[in-house]
Amino acid sequence: MNKLENYVTGSWITGDGEGQTLFNAVTGDPIAAASSKGLDFSAMADYARKVGNPALRKMTFHERGRMLRALATHLQQHLPEFYRISYQTGATKADSWIDLEGGIGNLFSYASLRRRFPNETYCVDGESHNLSKQHSFMATHLLVPKEGVAIHINAFNFPVWGMLEKVAVNWLAGMPAIVKPATVTSYLTEAVVKKIIASGILPEGALQLICGSAGDLLDHVQSQDVVTFTGSAYTGLKLKSHPAILRESVPFNMEADSLNCIVLGEDVEPGSADWEVFIKEIRKEMTAKAGQKCTAIRRIFVPDSKLEAVWKAVATSLEQTIIGNPLNEKVRMGALAGATQKQEVLEQVDKLLAGSQLVYGSLNSVQLLDADPVKGSFISPLLLVNERPFENLAPHEVEAFGPVSTIMPYKSAEEAIELSRLGKGSLVSSVVTSNPAIARNYVLGAGPWHGRILVLNQQCAKESTGHGSPLPLLVHGGPGRAGGGEEMGGLRGVKHYMQRLAVQGSPDMITAISNVYQPGATGKEDVVHPFRKYFEEIVVGDQLLTGRRTITESDISNFANLSWDHFYAHTDHTSLEGTLFEKPVAHGYFILSAAAGLFVDGSAKGPVLLNYGLDELRFMKPVYAGNTIRVKFTCKEKIEQEQKLDTDLPRGIVKWLVEVSDETGDQVAVATILTMVRKKSVDPSD
Ligand code: NDP
Repeated sequence: MNKLENYVTGSWITGDGEGQTLFNAVTGDPIAAASSKGLDFSAMADYARKVGNPALRKMTFHERGRMLRALATHLQQHLPEFYRISYQTGATKADSWIDLEGGIGNLFSYASLRRRFPNETYCVDGESHNLSKQHSFMATHLLVPKEGVAIHINAFNFPVWGMLEKVAVNWLAGMPAIVKPATVTSYLTEAVVKKIIASGILPEGALQLICGSAGDLLDHVQSQDVVTFTGSAYTGLKLKSHPAILRESVPFNMEADSLNCIVLGEDVEPGSADWEVFIKEIRKEMTAKAGQKCTAIRRIFVPDSKLEAVWKAVATSLEQTIIGNPLNEKVRMGALAGATQKQEVLEQVDKLLAGSQLVYGSLNSVQLLDADPVKGSFISPLLLVNERPFENLAPHEVEAFGPVSTIMPYKSAEEAIELSRLGKGSLVSSVVTSNPAIARNYVLGAGPWHGRILVLNQQCAKESTGHGSPLPLLVHGGPGRAGGGEEMGGLRGVKHYMQRLAVQGSPDMITAISNVYQPGATGKEDVVHPFRKYFEEIVVGDQLLTGRRTITESDISNFANLSWDHFYAHTDHTSLEGTLFEKPVAHGYFILSAAAGLFVDGSAKGPVLLNYGLDELRFMKPVYAGNTIRVKFTCKEKIEQEQKLDTDLPRGIVKWLVEVSDETGDQVAVATILTMVRKKSVDPSD
């Protein structure tokens, strides 16, 4: 039998012994064996730290992002092959789409996030802080890649997305990964990793794979490593309390059981558009991936007067679902991942049935299209009703990881919130309502117990990404029973793999270290005007101290006429009593425009292509007619821009700190403006 290979310290190798046999979830046929016996897990971790980590760490965010994009594009070319393998996990085409294309989409999303980072190997995190009266001592925060390895122990339900959603983030941060998928579906992960490695897109050591048990891998974790886990709360607790993880203070990100709920708002009437949205969402969440989604709806809370109407409508909707061989295009729900998973779901349903009644589906039989109910791991969708949700607590505690959901009544909005909390922390909840007060009350009440809340109604349903879809830019994770972890979340996720450190020192030192000009640092004056320099020639700290301009009354009235901004503070010469001003004040935008008039040098064509916009702008002190302003204009930061087309002008964005002061030396305005500046290397006029 085909034995899966592990990718270990740069080579594909099989484990010792016969290994665990893996089966086609639809036909029950054996397809491969997995073994990681005999692997040197300590050497794997070491290799990642010593080979993969330095290679990734020395790449800039932009280089890492482009690597992700190249990898995503490469994997897209192999999708037909991945789909063929994915069917064997019991997944329909739509289920596989989530796993495969969702995972690749995640790589693309994180690739795009590179633009939110500097073209450096590290970055500044948040604002700087002046810590002294004379502005000679300050601090900022930096994020630097950790020097360890990210170890991902994943669940069986998303063999590809589960890997890619995590590695995209650690690679962008500059860390390598060891991936250990759940054994039962690891044949699909292996197929994808083979394509990844063969592409040569990743630096050596950036990815290793274990198909089979994790062995003693966790015994070898060190303090610079990060471990993530997705799976059962039972295993999660065991791993989280592993002595090496505790001893080395290794961050452990866990995503475990989650009894996600959906709430029908009290405003929604049977037959209304929102009602249809509600019923459809439940059916989708129960049947997609045969309910084997960490985010699937397990609990359904409805106003007690609508209990019967809801279960009848959900049952009618579930009846439409064709179950069977996912290779048949008519099939909407496939099989569970394997016989063990089926057995486990039935055992959990047994616990749920102690206080609930089954109102749809059968424990013993299921009508199938093109599939054998004995050989395949199929199960009927099972809809339960628990009429006493505050007394019978099983649905708030037992996760049946399949197409199983329990409907429960509530009497008031507060009760619905209370019921959602009984899940003791979930990944996601939805509330279906068109009433903003109901939505707000629910979001604020249930918020502390959830990682994500979807407010769903007819307005957004058509374009909604749905209750069950974690998105790359949004936080995925939940408090309490859901594991207390947080994955993805855009930039937030990248920070999990970087060390945040506060750096204190003089503005000159912090400027030199961060490569971002800090107020108070020594500027670099030059005979060449900053606007006459090409992108490559501009240096952070390049500074221009401009000439002076005295503001006149006619400047202010002319600007009012030109801009049509006749706000009283600029135009009222007789009655400003009771306002913040003594006499007509210059428009803030005029001061900024006048500042531009002082710092711009552009009478002849030059490298500056355009004004790209403004990041921050503050007016600190009124400027009246008679005041004289001048500008300190300093290069704050440079941002590389990529050429999308060969015909694009090579260029970058330069951020400038504009500090406007009056004749007393007081600052009257501060702004960060952005210009687009041409690169010299390829200026055709050169
Ligand atoms: P497990 O917790 O058994 O396994 C999850 C992962 O942990 C797998 O990769 C597994 O590997 C690995 N693992 C298990 N034991 C160890 C160990 N001692 N050391 C290192 N790694 C270990 O969960 P399952 O995937 O079997 O799912 C069981 C239940 O968990 C589901 O039925 C469901 O209730 C819940 N679950 C919850 C999810 C969520 O995110 N909410 C997602 C998936 C499952 P191996 O496969 O080799 O045993």
